[in-house]
Amino acid sequence: MANLILILGDQLTTDISALQNGDRQRDRVVMAEVHDEASYTNHHKKKLVLLFSAMRHFARQLEADGWQVHYQHYHPDNEAQSLEAVIAGQLRDAGVDRVITTECGEWRLHEQISQWHERLGMPVEIRPDTRFIASKQEFANWAEGRKQLRMEFFYREMRKKTGLLMTPEGKPEGDQWNFDADNRRKWTGKPPAPAPFRVEPDAITTEVIKQVDEYFADHFGTTEDFHFAVTADDAAQALDYFIDFALPCFGDYQDAMSDDEDWLFHSILSPYINSGLLDPMAVCEAAAQAWYGGRAPINAVEGFIRQILGWREFVRGLYWLNMPGYAAENRLGNSRALPWFYWTGDTKMRCMHKAIDATRRNAYAHHIQRLMVTGNFALLAGIKPEEICDWYLAVYADAYDWVELPNVLGMVMHADGGYLGSKPYAASGKYINRMSDHCKSCHYKVNKSTEGDACPFNALYWHFIDRHRDDFANNPRMGMMYRNWDKQKPEQRAALLKRGEQLLINIEKL
Ligand SMILES: Cc1cc2nc3c(=O)[nH]c(=O)nc-3n(C[C@H](O)[C@H](O)[C@H](O)COP(=O)(O)OP(=O)(O)OC[C@H]3O[C@@H](n4cnc5c(N)ncnc54)[C@H](O)[C@@H]3O)c2cc1C
Ligand code: SF4
Repeated sequence: MANLILILGDQLTTDISALQNGDRQRDRVVMAEVHDEASYTNHHKKKLVLLFSAMRHFARQLEADGWQVHYQHYHPDNEAQSLEAVIAGQLRDAGVDRVITTECGEWRLHEQISQWHERLGMPVEIRPDTRFIASKQEFANWAEGRKQLRMEFFYREMRKKTGLLMTPEGKPEGDQWNFDADNRRKWTGKPPAPAPFRVEPDAITTEVIKQVDEYFADHFGTTEDFHFAVTADDAAQALDYFIDFALPCFGDYQDAMSDDEDWLFHSILSPYINSGLLDPMAVCEAAAQAWYGGRAPINAVEGFIRQILGWREFVRGLYWLNMPGYAAENRLGNSRALPWFYWTGDTKMRCMHKAIDATRRNAYAHHIQRLMVTGNFALLAGIKPEEICDWYLAVYADAYDWVELPNVLGMVMHADGGYLGSKPYAASGKYINRMSDHCKSCHYKVNKSTEGDACPFNALYWHFIDRHRDDFANNPRMGMMYRNWDKQKPEQRAALLKRGEQLLINIEKL
C-alpha cells in the first residue's frame, strides 16, 4: 500500500505525526507552495519568505534522509492553485492508496481537508498534531463545565503534567506558580538589549526573496534585511542565543516598550515554534535548565515558560473547542472600519507609529505592543473584530488562525464576552507612558485629555468605559473604573465624551 504524505508549511519537523511509520521507498511526501494558501490574507512578505524558504530547506532534508518528495514551487501560473489540486494531481500520477496528513492549524483548511476523502475518492488519514503539549481532547476535558476559562488554572495543570519547574514533592519551584508581579519594569536603556539573532540569507532564501518581491509585490511589509532562521539547526541556535543573552532579563522587561529598540529581551522564537522548526516542549525545557543551572532568574524562566506552556496551549485548546462560532463573536457590537494607518504606520500617535512601523519592517512586534498599543487602540475605538483579526493574521511572521484569533478576538477585543479574559485590557495613555518612552517624542500630550493635542488614548478610554457601562458595570474587576468615572465632575465627563466623539469621527487623521 503506497501513501501520499502531505506536509503543510507549518509542519516542518521530522517528528510530525504524518511521517511516522512511513515507508521511504514506497510512500511519497508532498509539499506545495500554492496560491490559495499564500494569498487568503495579505501575508507579510517576510512571512512568505520564511515559510517558502523553510519549506524548501525541509524538503531537501527529507530527500537527504531518503524520502521521495514531490515539491511544487510557487508560480502564479501553476495549474494547481490549491492543496487539493496538488494532491488530486499526485493521485492521478502515483498509484496511491491513501493520503496521510497531520491535522492542520486552521478551521478554514480543516474544513477543506475533512472533505477530501469524498472529493478525491480516496481514504484520507488525519493524524493528531502531537507537537502540542495538551491534546484537543485533554483541553476539552479540562474546560468541560467551566463557564469561563482561566489560563492560570490550565497552566498549573500543565506544570503538573510536564513536571516543568516542579519540585520532586510536586510543589512549584520558588514556592509560587506565577511571578508576574515581578515582571513589570520600565526599560531605560540599561542593561543593553541584545541584537536579534541573525541568519544571513543563503542561495535558497535569496531566490525566495526575489520571487516574493516579484509575485507578492502588493502584500504588506518588506523583504529587506531578512534574517530569520529557516532550518531547524539555525532555529536551535536562535534558542541558545535567547537563553544566553535575553532570557536573564526577559521577566523584568517583559511588559516594557522602547522608542529605540524593536525586540528588547523577547525570544523571537514564535515563528519557529509555530512552523515546526522548534519543539515547544524542548524550548520550555531549555529555559528550565537555564534556571536550574543558575543562568537565569526564576521570574524570567517561569514567565517565559508560562507563555508557551500556558498561553500558547490554552489559546490553541480554546480555538478548537469553540470554532467555527468563535470567529463570528462580536459581543461589544463593534462596527468601525480599521483605520488605514494600520497598514501605513502614518499616524501622529508615536506609540502606534512605532509598533506598526516595526511590524512593517520586521513582521514582528512584541506582545505588549500587540496587546496594549495596536490592540488597545482597536478596542477603545470599537473596530470590527473581523477587520482587526484580519490585520493581525496578515502582518506577523508567527500568525496562524489558531493562535491569532483567540488572542485578538478574545484577549484584545473582548468580543467573546469575557470567556477568555476576565476583563478587557483597556488602558489610557498613562499605561503606555508608564511602560515606555514613546510619549516624550509624541505629537500628543499624554498628560492632557480633552484638548486638541491631548493623547487620543485618554478620552477614548473614558468613551469606551462610558459606552460599555451595560457590558461591564457588574464586572467586579471593572468596578473601580466606573467609580473613578462617576467621581469626575459632570462637565469633565462631558468634555471627555465630546473629545472621544471627535476622535472617532476624525480617526483617519490621528
Ligand atoms: C493581539 C495579539 C495577537 C497575537 N497574535 C499571535 C500570533 O498570530 N501568533 C503567535 O504566535 N502569537 C501571537 N500573539 C502572542 C504573542 O504576542 C506572540 O507569541 C509573541 O509576541 C511572539 O514573540 P516572541 O517569540 O518574541 O515571544 P516571547 O515574548 O519571547 O514569548 C515566548 C513565547 O511564548 C508564546 N506566547 C507568548 N504569548 C502568547 C500568547 N498570548 N499566545 C500564544 N503564545 C504566546 C510564543 O510562542 C512566544 O514565542 C498575539 C498576541 C496578541 C496580544
Ligand atoms: S501620548 Fe498617547 S498617543 Fe502619544 S505615545 Fe503616548 S500614549 Fe501614545
